[in-house]
Amino acid sequence: MDVIHLLPDSVANQIAAGEVIQRPASCLKELVENSLDADATHITIIVTDAGRTLLQVIDNGKGMSERDALMAFERHATSKIASASDLYGLRTMGFRGEALASICAVAHVDLQTRQADDEMGTFIEVAGSRVIRQEPCVCPIGTNFKIKDLFFNVPARRKFLKSDATELRNIMQEFYRIALVYPDVQFTMIHDDELVMDLTPGTYKQRIEQVFKKNLKTSFMQQFVDIHTETELVNIRGFVGKPEDTTKQTQQYFFVNGRYMRHPVFHKAVMNAYAGMLAADKAPSYFIYFDIDPSAIDVNIHPTKTEIKFADEQAIFQILLAAIRESLGKFDIAPSLDFDQEQTLNIPSMPQNPEGVTSPHVKVDTSYNPFSQSRGNYVPSNWKGLYEPNTKRTSVAQGLQEFESGEEKPAAESQNPTLDLQIDSTPDHIFQLGERYIMLPSPQGLIVIDQHRASTLILYHQFYQEITAATGVSHQLLFPETLDLSAEESTMLLAIKDDLSAVGFDIEALGKTSFVIGGVPPQLEQQNSLVVLMNILHNLQETGSSVHEQWQKQMVLSLASDAAIPYGKKLSETEMLQLYSQLVHTDNYKYTPDGKTIISLWSLTDVKKLF
Ligand code: ADP
Ligand code: MG
Repeated sequence: MDVIHLLPDSVANQIAAGEVIQRPASCLKELVENSLDADATHITIIVTDAGRTLLQVIDNGKGMSERDALMAFERHATSKIASASDLYGLRTMGFRGEALASICAVAHVDLQTRQADDEMGTFIEVAGSRVIRQEPCVCPIGTNFKIKDLFFNVPARRKFLKSDATELRNIMQEFYRIALVYPDVQFTMIHDDELVMDLTPGTYKQRIEQVFKKNLKTSFMQQFVDIHTETELVNIRGFVGKPEDTTKQTQQYFFVNGRYMRHPVFHKAVMNAYAGMLAADKAPSYFIYFDIDPSAIDVNIHPTKTEIKFADEQAIFQILLAAIRESLGKFDIAPSLDFDQEQTLNIPSMPQNPEGVTSPHVKVDTSYNPFSQSRGNYVPSNWKGLYEPNTKRTSVAQGLQEFESGEEKPAAESQNPTLDLQIDSTPDHIFQLGERYIMLPSPQGLIVIDQHRASTLILYHQFYQEITAATGVSHQLLFPETLDLSAEESTMLLAIKDDLSAVGFDIEALGKTSFVIGGVPPQLEQQNSLVVLMNILHNLQETGSSVHEQWQKQMVLSLASDAAIPYGKKLSETEMLQLYSQLVHTDNYKYTPDGKTIISLWSLTDVKKLF
């Protein structure tokens, strides 16, 4: 008996939709990209209930003919490529002809569209892949898509959607990723009848300013310098934050040929360019636009993926690094350190630990190698950071970002492979070095523990337990603090509010973007709660994960790092012993959750090498 049959289109489309349209934000992305591909110069986005009830995109682009309007809903129907070879010269955002077929499989769709040459437009109503109505209509030139009741026929998907705040945050994120790379297009965004954004056409700089400025008094772009380089391989333009920039908001964006991308390797190039220039709690913001021959990148990316493969990744890495270095230097903001000279200084450095172990009397990081791509470069070698309490925001965010993007194991792992300590839980001697390291002799050599990292790991486990069991206690503040946020930050804060209260934060919304912090976890009593919360938000922004567990971990790590014993704190012998014993009784005590070495050994051989 034959058992195989073809699935009806409506079912096949619904299955395919699960891949392309995962949430309102992905639906919006597809629609807006279509408007851009249709050469629209003004795109209006109307969102109701974070996209659950309505997502509407109105453009003044070239519109569709009556026939095309119907064809557009078919799977693999596209006007953008005709053959496989077209893939190599691709300059449009879409090309698969899947988006509309997917959207109409899982929503009620109304389409109105008219081309400039036509007197009448076309109206089409589709629901669950079925055309319900098609008739001529009077409408402006361009296209108007209304997506109503997304996932009305896929209850599982609908249930899978997060809170309105989270879905709106995702929508805003997709929106920024597009608006920032099309500055000549006007974007109007309305959510629940309120004008959220009206971006007028202008330069890239003006667009970024419009999106991120918080108030009219300070210029956001003043904190940036331009980068610009043109080579045969690639043109790179954009803006990178001045190292001394005081903004707390870290925005990191790469675009290639008009498309947002994530690129952990190029991110490393940026971080390398800044090595040694950033204060410990700072990460650079950047907006970097690559323009490259489309055949030199892999265009056949899945619509929901943002990673893009470059044929000449290594060369571009170097070009980018050099371009940023040059700009930072030109604007006379790079410290005048001569790296070669530093490396010839004959100062002993811990062989086991590539990061930041520095002889306290010399104000440079001797183990710094500007061309090494190891994680070590993320740690600011800025000497100030060695003596100041330090929350290591950069590294924390970076670590998880790479972790999330599935990058290779942290360098620390490979540099410290043989450390198998015989742990003595009551050591005879213990002392502190440079108000930063705890040292104790052992039969194998001198054990060195990074006090901040050790404490971070211990607190990480504590907070993680609290967040999963919601057992955090709140320490009420005598003077509640008020937090004013941007629209994007507010949606993010709302999205994590429950998790924050699980660990002991007491946060009330005052208005749409104002919040009052009435209580904090007792571990954070000594810290500035505003800074702690901003750190969490920015770390989350950087990693951009939408996986709940992943962002819980990110949040917990950020909290732990802020609450941990800082560098520069003198510890009593009892405190050191306590930290040591807590550490060695913790799982995986050799590395922080983001892969940095906590404990290192200076063996007899290492010591001998010094003489
Ligand atoms: P793709 O963008 O990959 O071609 P879509 O399913 O997103 O596939 O769209 C199918 C086709 O519908 C597009 O190729 C385009 O011809 C047409 N189309 C979609 N949206 C618009 C729009 N806003 N304006 C004009 N044409 C559009
Ligand atoms: Mg498309």
